[in-house]
Amino acid sequence: MLELIGLQEDLVRRTCARVLESRQGSDLSSVAVVFPSRRFGFFLRQEFALGIDGNFFPPALFPIEAFFESLFKLNFPGHRILDELEATHAIHESAVAVFKDGMYGSRKIADFASFLPWAQKILAALEEILTEAGRIEGIDFAKYEEFTRLGDYHHSYKEFIQKIPVLLADLGRRLDGRKQATPGMAGRKVAELAEKGELKVPVARHWIFSGFNAMNGCERKLFRFFADRNDALLLLRTDPHGLNDPISPFHLQAETIRGLGMNQPAWLPGSNELDDLADKVTIHPCDGVENEIVHAFRFLEEICRGRDEAALKKVAVLLPASPSLIPFVQGAVSRFDQDANRLPFNITLGYPLERTPMMQLVDSLLTVLENTESGMISSGDYLPLVRHPYVKISGGNGDLEPLKRGIHLLENIINGGNLTRFSVAGLEAKLSAEMQRPMHGIAPEFAMAIASQVSAMHQRFIPQEIAEMHSLLTFLQQALESVGSEKNRGSHLFLNEYAASALGALEELGDFASSHDKVFLSADVRSMAALVRAHFRGRTIRFEGSPLQGVQVMGPLEFRGLSFDEVIVLDALEGVLPGTAKYDPILPADIRAIFGIRDHGDWGKIYAFNFFAMLGAAKRVHILYPRKSEDGKECERSRFIERIVYAAEKKNREAPTAPPLSLPFDILPREIRTAKKNPPVRERLRAITLSPSSLEAYIKCPLQFYFSRVLGLKEREEVAAESEGGLIGTIAHEALEVFYDQYPEAQARTGAGEKALEADLEKFLYDAFRKLNFNPEKGLERIRSWTLLEQLRLFIREDGKRIKQNGIRVEKREKTLSMDFEVPGLGQKVGIKGRLDRLEREGNLLRVVDYKTGSPFTPKVRVNESLNLTDLFQRDEKGYFDALAAFRKKYPGMQLQIYLMLLAREQEKCWDELDASYVFLRERSGRMNQGIFMTSGRHSRPFTSEEKRQAMEAFVNDLGEVLRDLYFREYFLANPGDEITCSYCPFRLPCGNL
Ligand code: SF4
Repeated sequence: MLELIGLQEDLVRRTCARVLESRQGSDLSSVAVVFPSRRFGFFLRQEFALGIDGNFFPPALFPIEAFFESLFKLNFPGHRILDELEATHAIHESAVAVFKDGMYGSRKIADFASFLPWAQKILAALEEILTEAGRIEGIDFAKYEEFTRLGDYHHSYKEFIQKIPVLLADLGRRLDGRKQATPGMAGRKVAELAEKGELKVPVARHWIFSGFNAMNGCERKLFRFFADRNDALLLLRTDPHGLNDPISPFHLQAETIRGLGMNQPAWLPGSNELDDLADKVTIHPCDGVENEIVHAFRFLEEICRGRDEAALKKVAVLLPASPSLIPFVQGAVSRFDQDANRLPFNITLGYPLERTPMMQLVDSLLTVLENTESGMISSGDYLPLVRHPYVKISGGNGDLEPLKRGIHLLENIINGGNLTRFSVAGLEAKLSAEMQRPMHGIAPEFAMAIASQVSAMHQRFIPQEIAEMHSLLTFLQQALESVGSEKNRGSHLFLNEYAASALGALEELGDFASSHDKVFLSADVRSMAALVRAHFRGRTIRFEGSPLQGVQVMGPLEFRGLSFDEVIVLDALEGVLPGTAKYDPILPADIRAIFGIRDHGDWGKIYAFNFFAMLGAAKRVHILYPRKSEDGKECERSRFIERIVYAAEKKNREAPTAPPLSLPFDILPREIRTAKKNPPVRERLRAITLSPSSLEAYIKCPLQFYFSRVLGLKEREEVAAESEGGLIGTIAHEALEVFYDQYPEAQARTGAGEKALEADLEKFLYDAFRKLNFNPEKGLERIRSWTLLEQLRLFIREDGKRIKQNGIRVEKREKTLSMDFEVPGLGQKVGIKGRLDRLEREGNLLRVVDYKTGSPFTPKVRVNESLNLTDLFQRDEKGYFDALAAFRKKYPGMQLQIYLMLLAREQEKCWDELDASYVFLRERSGRMNQGIFMTSGRHSRPFTSEEKRQAMEAFVNDLGEVLRDLYFREYFLANPGDEITCSYCPFRLPCGNL
């Protein structure tokens, strides 16, 4: 029997009414109702309670999955349905037996632990074939060879597909012998008995199947059985016009009815309800994700105001994808929690454990386990672990400060020493030594507390000597319990739920490991870690809630058969609503055709049906979507919205308005900071000794100078996994320093022979790499060291020739110079100090040389550029920054000019006795050494003595004005005009230039 009702009718109420027709007083037990979701059952029970006064014998109520399970138990007494781990283990056993020479995706089938991720995928595919009542026996693959020949399938994949029936047969035999079944297998057995008419069923005179808009193969067989034997009633809610319209989402039900061999009733209820959507659905584009959540909160607030408990249950939120759940709970649900009139929510959508910080922690623990060799841990694995927020709250029972301070010190020790690998004991010894340094001011008792908490942290979180599954699970359990302990509840949002879910997953693994000891005998740490990860990845977190209280927050499937007054739909974006039909690597569409099971197109129809049925049953719907994603990319609204717009246009001859919702408050644009030179700042300023690089930083951006040199803020040091950027500079400087120490003169170098020199250079360079814990003979470092070595060889060859030709002698390397500079009107001298890379003598000329590993630039002083910095400190902002830019343009190699000032003062030299040049180690042959006192143009020549004197006198004068500005201007101003400087600036956050 088939009964159709309109979308606006309440399916729960109609189902209840049909049950009540068969009541005998207060006894409803002659009826059994089967429905697609547990939630439908909750609402149904409540409806019975409302419909019958007093106590009653309820009908038998079966969510479909539980129904199959109970029928399996009834028909196969003593048989047991396996959980996922047991089922995947059985898959592993069968795969080993069937694919003796290896299998697609896993050439040689490894131990169970390593195979688990594959076993999970195979299990999902087999379960789908089974529950869909897919074709298994007698498949003539030759007939389908077209598929496999035309499809771009690999030989091993074709073999895998062809052996699926054999695999299923092996699995069936294996499990039958043990009186076991996977859930899909159990369903299939039940359906087969139903098909043969041999199924034993619970006693009930009337059977009602309600809300099955689409059925899988096993469900179809089961319903037919009850229809034939018990004249079971199928209750469907539909849009009658859509039923016969092939492009309507409701056409799906016509296919379901046909598939069951039933006829549509002549009478169809209601009007064309899809067209009516236009009048009750409002579409709200939002500026962004936060904005969307804010508006969801506001709509809920408005909708729920004044509603009693019963009316609240008629409000629902549809979250199409589970990742939206946490933002929704944080941004909307938690705000109602703070309200005096707290609003209850019932959230049934599961959240993937994989996306939580708890999974990150587990992953970090496993990574340390996998990569630790002979007790040596990699800093790349250790630092993310100790920086994890849960680790920081895991210490002791009281004061967490010692642990936090300890972690901070450990980070500095590791980063400062660029320690790439270390042992726990070695690190703890370094920590003890570090804490004794007076600069930290750590009292002995506090140092003891730090040492003891750090040691306890290592015991909790650094896996030691773990070689088998039980000890790994015990270690993980202790680590997670120390995080999710009673005292930590409330420290982080959802920590309890995350911890409970993770500990539950560990318990399942523990149970499985206890009964399958032998499975893990050959597993190494990597495969054990893979098993834990794979098991955790499949878990979802359920949030507590009473099913029939408050606003219902659900995924699309849970709306099946239910009706709500008000529905709020979030994230109505293409790819989310409906979810992206991902390519299934095991069962792509043409392979599904071979097995005769539904494909993505069919699932898309079911998704559309569920969504439009939910809309049709609701009285009012708000659909929200963000126009931009969190990373600022434009988002495409869901195709379902386009369909609603189309329906509205058809009916009203105009598109529905969709006014964008903006935030209910304005976010003021961030102002870029200035820093006032108040008395403490001035005091600090006077005490600072300036350096050539700090003065260059000041010219580029005074505010950056303030952050770095006055406040002393520093970028967090990080262990460098690779010798990039500044570290390459350090390595090159170190190698050249040692080289010129050994070979200061051209004669000495010639005597040593070029081969020997180059061999020495290579050794010095490799030593410099190793000093920073990089291995120059492996991987990327090998390429880097080779490239750098080639450039250094080129340099020393050219430098050798230059030294020989010009009779140059390298006088000093890494020489420190200093002077006191008189700033007019300041009343005190300003200290300037710098360390130059190399000082060489060429006859009477002393030359400063600076090595640069960064990008080359033209360092020549541009004497002809006009520059007037008089009273720079009094200029307005625009004039000020224009003047600083002009200074940089005129003196691109200003650091060398400052060194010359220092050298002239120290050695009492005139300007014409001094010279300066950069060595650009990235430059090509002939362009490495570039002097700053060279004229511009094609026929460049060295400055005359007079030009050099003028250039340096002008520079000293201009620098004096810059220093007056530094000490007399009232504020440090930000110079955001130089985008390159800003893009590398570590102070963008405090500056406000984001
Ligand atoms: S971000 Fe730019 S403007 Fe701000 S401090 Fe850094 S360099 Fe200066």
